Amino acid sequence: MPGEELDDAIGATRLFVAERIPTVFTYLGEGIKDLHEAQQVRDHYIALLERIARENLDIEVSVKLTQLGLDLSTSDAYENLKVVAENARRLKNVVWIDMERSNYVDATLDVYRKIRAGYANTGVCLQSYLKRTRDDLESLLKLSPSIRLVKGAYNEPKEIAFAEKKKADENYFELSRMLLGSIIENNTRAAFGTHDTVLHARVMKAAEEIGVPKDRVEIQMLYGIKPEVQKRLAREGYRIRVLISYGKAWYRWYLRRLAERPANVWFVVKNIFAK
Ligand SMILES: Cc1cc2nc3c(=O)[nH]c(=O)nc-3n(C[C@H](O)[C@H](O)[C@H](O)COP(=O)(O)OP(=O)(O)OC[C@H]3O[C@@H](n4cnc5c(N)ncnc54)[C@H](O)[C@@H]3O)c2cc1C
Repeated sequence: MPGEELDDAIGATRLFVAERIPTVFTYLGEGIKDLHEAQQVRDHYIALLERIARENLDIEVSVKLTQLGLDLSTSDAYENLKVVAENARRLKNVVWIDMERSNYVDATLDVYRKIRAGYANTGVCLQSYLKRTRDDLESLLKLSPSIRLVKGAYNEPKEIAFAEKKKADENYFELSRMLLGSIIENNTRAAFGTHDTVLHARVMKAAEEIGVPKDRVEIQMLYGIKPEVQKRLAREGYRIRVLISYGKAWYRWYLRRLAERPANVWFVVKNIFAK
């Protein structure tokens, strides 16, 4: 994170402009159980979208449905998301939906299908470590969706998720191939949300073989992770977008991520020592 405040995230975005790297912002927080608080998050995103338009910045937004009231009801989350999507459409912007823990996948996809029917400017994240994702992707592709494919960040039971990292990685590539095919066939927007440079190379090679132009192969990465790779991809003509988180809820979020996935401790250590 560049900092807790929105201004910190905007400042970081301005530094990316020269490198032609746009960003996507996420306001940290999740699991909100109070409707008024969820509406405040909704209003935060609306004000953010207004500011992005006013300052003419290329920043999309990414929301968590449990921050918009999914723990209260699917309809609360949907109604709040709809207002954000409506404002985003008016301001010619895009709203992504993060994918949270597996018990939220059905509700998240229901909300996405419903919102996508009225708002083409919306996208959803899918996780390759879940065994169900292939079927989910297959059914979503008919909607000309925007999909951000990630490996998945939560600690999930082996009955529903690939326990072996290698299998989740291989599934990532298989799903990527489906997505790449769908870029041409269904006008899908495919964003590959990974820092795995081996996968980047495999996806790019597959894209070339299928005939997908470089500027339709989009890689999304997190702020501060492998910035040299981010710049190189932009220079090489691929679409790249960097996700920046901000907000005061980082401490609980960060501790939970470490607790849920001990491998993240190693990432942090490596990141401290890596150039
Ligand atoms: C734009 C974006 C949006 C995301 N949205 C979601 C979401 O909605 N839901 C969800 O469950 N997950 C989300 N994630 C997280 C994702 O699921 C993975 O947990 C995360 O990206 C790490 O996996 P990886 O694909 O980079 O591959 P890995 O195999 O885990 O990592 C590949 C290499 O990247 C480097 N690396 C990876 N992560 C870090 C790190 N934190 N610090 C330092 N180096 C690192 C390491 O060198 C590592 O060897 C998102 C990720 C990105 C990039």
